[in-house]
Amino acid sequence: MTPSTTLSADLFDRARRVIPSGVNSPVRAFGSVGGTPPFLTSAKGALLTDADGNEYVDLVGSWGPMILGHAHDGVVEAVREAAGRGLSFGAPQAGEVTLAEEVVRRIGPVEQLRLVNSGTEATMSALRVARAATGRDVVVKFAGCYHGHVDALLAEAGSGVATFAMPGSAGVTAATAKDTVVLPYGDREAVTSLFAERGGEIAAIITEAAPANMGVVPPLAEDGVGFNRFLADTAHAAGALLISDEVLTGFRASREGHYGVDGPRGTGEDWAPDLMTFGKVIGGGLPVGAFGGREDLMGLLAPAGPVYQAGTLSGNPLATAAGLATFAGLDDAAYETLGRASNALQQLVADALTAEGVPHVVQTAGTLFSVFFRGEPVRTYDDAKAQDTEAFTRFFHAMLEGGVYLPPSAFEAWFVSTAHTDEVLDRIAAVLPAAAKAAARG
Ligand code: PMP
Repeated sequence: MTPSTTLSADLFDRARRVIPSGVNSPVRAFGSVGGTPPFLTSAKGALLTDADGNEYVDLVGSWGPMILGHAHDGVVEAVREAAGRGLSFGAPQAGEVTLAEEVVRRIGPVEQLRLVNSGTEATMSALRVARAATGRDVVVKFAGCYHGHVDALLAEAGSGVATFAMPGSAGVTAATAKDTVVLPYGDREAVTSLFAERGGEIAAIITEAAPANMGVVPPLAEDGVGFNRFLADTAHAAGALLISDEVLTGFRASREGHYGVDGPRGTGEDWAPDLMTFGKVIGGGLPVGAFGGREDLMGLLAPAGPVYQAGTLSGNPLATAAGLATFAGLDDAAYETLGRASNALQQLVADALTAEGVPHVVQTAGTLFSVFFRGEPVRTYDDAKAQDTEAFTRFFHAMLEGGVYLPPSAFEAWFVSTAHTDEVLDRIAAVLPAAAKAAARG
């Protein structure tokens, strides 16, 4: 039976009067899949509850942060305790230091770290440092990669820009766009020839460590050389930098993020990005981002250096408490649990779609995965755009009606948490046959 959404619909009507499209971030509006987005009232573990009292198994996880599940007891208690000591100081506090130490300990290339309030701020600031360090303007990005809504990085971006098939964004000046070169993901020849032509103008290549905003498109090795290492080598040979965006993959793809998968500890290849960006998991659900890297580069930041970057709420004590409590829960056992849940869910979905003859491919990067409604592997943004988004939409709505909340877009990763137990997966398994049938009904 279709769940009642009367109260969510009322809220959506009210919201659209006072908030553009009724939402504070585009994909939430269900614009590409249609229908009323449930307005949520609470969440615990792997479950969400909406205003009408419907319960859903959550596969969005607030787009990544809720890796331990919602309202995790340890995280909630840490935030409650921190709140009692003050909501914001605008002055240094110990939590910032401990959080930075934790990231530096886990991620080899990060010698120093600055906390900001979102992934967008992190990539924007990293780019500024790269431009200052090199004295160059041009940035290279890949089609289908999303790095937040930074002017210079919106061209052919993933996430909502992909969901709504936008080429970029209005309001970005031609001068800004001119300094961004967009290349097809994974295309080494395109990278090599761009550097041969314009290497001296390029400040940095920015890439998602594993693209996950056009669905998950893992970087592939060629002749034993990983794509990210190739990018680092190519950039360095031209005096440019590599910025590896781990806002989404960080501390999720593995304990050391995607760098744990294709860095020295993963493949044995010796390479390092110059700057890295983080967000989501490191804030445990509160607004946090971070950028870090080599000390000589991070030393360019004000007040010691000439690159200005600041934030009233940066290093907020509630956010660092939530981040630290989340890290406390992210031991090896947690990543095993996450990996098991991710693998089991991939298999369940693949089996259900196969049983109904629905063309699909499941792609992974560490414990991260997504499902493309297309028979062949997806290697580029063009491949991702060639999937059957209508089949996804039918699948999505059948899952939602059955009580499973998927990302409302065919271009997003699916997020599991350590709270996605076998019992939770059984609830998803019960809905999958009907959803696969819906996807098959063209
Ligand atoms: N980079 C990547 C890889 C992301 O996935 C995102 C957000 N999905 C961002 C940057 C931007 O982060 P935020 O939404 O916190 O600004």
